[in-house]
Amino acid sequence: MEVKTSLLDNMIGVGDMVLLEPLNEDSFIENLRKRFDHNEIYTYIGSVVISMNPYRSLSIFTPEKVEEYLPGLDEAYRSLRDQDKDQCILITGESGAGKTEASKLVMSYVAAVCGRGQEVNKVKEQLLQSNPVLEAFGNAKTVRNDNSSRFGKYMDIEFDFKGDPLGGVISNYLLEKSRVCKQPRGERNFHIFYQLLSGASGDTLTKLKLDRDFSKYNYLSLDSATVNGLDDAASFRTVRNAMQIVGFMEDEVQLVLELVAAVLKLGNIEFKPESRVNGFDESRVKDKNDLKEMCELLGIEQSVLERAFSYRTVEAKMEKVSTTLNVAQAYYARDALAKNLYSRLFSWLVTRINESIKAQAKTRHKVMGVLDIYGFEIFEDNSFEQFIINYCNEKLQQIFIELTLREEQEEYVREGIEWTNIEYFNNAIICDLIENNQNGILAMLDEECLRPGTVTDDTFLDKLNTICAEHQHFESRLSKNSKFLTDHSLPHSCFRIQHYAGKVLYRVEGFVDKNNDLLYRDLSQAMYKATHSLMRQLFPEGNPAKVNLKRPLTAGFQFKASVGGLMRNLQTKNPNYIRCIKPNDKKAAHIFTDSLVCHQVRYLGLMENVRVRRAGYAFRQPYEPCLERYKMLCKQTWPHWRGPARDGVEVLLTDCSVPAEEFAYGRSKIFIRNPRTLFTLEERRRA
Ligand code: ATP
Ligand code: MG
Repeated sequence: MEVKTSLLDNMIGVGDMVLLEPLNEDSFIENLRKRFDHNEIYTYIGSVVISMNPYRSLSIFTPEKVEEYLPGLDEAYRSLRDQDKDQCILITGESGAGKTEASKLVMSYVAAVCGRGQEVNKVKEQLLQSNPVLEAFGNAKTVRNDNSSRFGKYMDIEFDFKGDPLGGVISNYLLEKSRVCKQPRGERNFHIFYQLLSGASGDTLTKLKLDRDFSKYNYLSLDSATVNGLDDAASFRTVRNAMQIVGFMEDEVQLVLELVAAVLKLGNIEFKPESRVNGFDESRVKDKNDLKEMCELLGIEQSVLERAFSYRTVEAKMEKVSTTLNVAQAYYARDALAKNLYSRLFSWLVTRINESIKAQAKTRHKVMGVLDIYGFEIFEDNSFEQFIINYCNEKLQQIFIELTLREEQEEYVREGIEWTNIEYFNNAIICDLIENNQNGILAMLDEECLRPGTVTDDTFLDKLNTICAEHQHFESRLSKNSKFLTDHSLPHSCFRIQHYAGKVLYRVEGFVDKNNDLLYRDLSQAMYKATHSLMRQLFPEGNPAKVNLKRPLTAGFQFKASVGGLMRNLQTKNPNYIRCIKPNDKKAAHIFTDSLVCHQVRYLGLMENVRVRRAGYAFRQPYEPCLERYKMLCKQTWPHWRGPARDGVEVLLTDCSVPAEEFAYGRSKIFIRNPRTLFTLEERRRA
């Protein structure tokens, strides 16, 4: 960290934890609390920013002011512009800690500091307005967060050589699509459904064949349909407006809303059994009105869709076999269609936004990547989705460990200074447990999904338990790390993982299904036959000319591959961290729960982070500014030192009789071991 004048001057608590004396967990938490109580929500560990969620808007956060409060960001932007380095901002923390808000702040900051002009302004505005669109479709109220991101987002903002933004590219990671059909108690479906029903004009709703009343829709949970502090109708106008700014045509917006309506209609289609002579129940659509309306909306022939809910065709090499669906299978097929329809629509939105915001022909100079994903989650009931989300968080923690250590190490090497390692909890073993190609949990799940014969969630669990037990027996890697916890207190059909951020109990129910993500071909073919142009586009595999007999890739496999790609991308950039912390579990302002903060401080490895900074040399600064700041303390350097700044600093420090072992002279910087030394110099300066 460079000496930031403001951090040394009188302020609330200690602005940089590296300077905290004494350093222990209590003083660390106390410092965070003191600052939080005074609206100082940012605290540093060197260049890592700790951000406490204030749960209320602080008027200081006008974009222009951000720079003042987030100097780390300013450094990132300057090195991107002036030192020609691609940067990335990695925002981490558990659900509700403030990642999404922080990422928006980063974007407003970028918009505020860089150039003006009509074209630049348009680019900025489009980048900013992509947020409300994606949040409407990809965020939802959960018990942890009223605006929880249910997808991962990585955005590259591209700059020209002057440091002005040219455009951006967004990548999205696995949307939690199961939410479309079912929401846990106390949670909602994606915001857009409620926004559309509350905010659209009566005329629009009639065209979409929708009713304003949430309770008419099976897919909308009712116990928490309205959320305090959320104005769905107003948000709908914001989203419409944002779509327009981003560049959606009026008819495109219409197509999108029709698909949203189609999902709601689909959820209302119900089935009844029709007994046949041989005793099989064959499914029939119960009340055809919703089916009819959905078909009208999308331009699908009703009989085609109806048939697809009663039969499924399996195509083998040379033949087609048709089997009937029972009621349970018909519901399964319906929900699979709704989930796929919605998640494909979401991906299409991202692609469409990218078309608008991508940099025009001009060559890009540098990029700043901003990563905002779903935070670590522990619910009462954790399923495949939480498993995937938590895996992603493990990977990010891993990259934090690698890069903070690596960066620190590299600086010492660059500057020619000796350095010793600090013990860290390395979560690589947990990543390995999940993603190892041979016996990782994802690989075992895939193997089970591809195995012929009867595959159920329980056979998958048996496999996990057996393999982990075997490994335990042979004392292999899986057991030694024992992050896969097999104790006898486990409830039925569950497994437990010791994640870096806590133990999580996963229920296996649905793992196989969600990983397979099977959609009967009859349904994709029915969708492809729609006259609705966007719908057709979303189901290309329904094109009968393109029948592909290969199994589609599993959800887990695809996610692992995309996260792997993301990690490789991040490693090529200079990382900047915002570590978000949630002050309480009540989504409330002014409350700071020590135990909760302490837990996060521990698993985020923040204490180790400070120790690493301090073990070597807690403080470092290029020679020139150091000389400039302290030259008044020595006759030989005051008022001017003639000669190299490094020599000036040496003369100065010797004159101040600071012990030699307190310093190391790097190639371009002075390294100071103990923050006390710096305090002494500061005191003398003030005296
Ligand atoms: P998730 O992982 O669930 O997406 P998150 O870390 O992205 O969670 P946010 O949605 O950013 O969490 O924050 C949750 C809520 O906390 C926000 O809706 C807002 O009410 C409040 N909040 C977060 N950061 C700030 C901030 N800097 N200023 C004011 N309020 C904030
Ligand atoms: Mg979020």
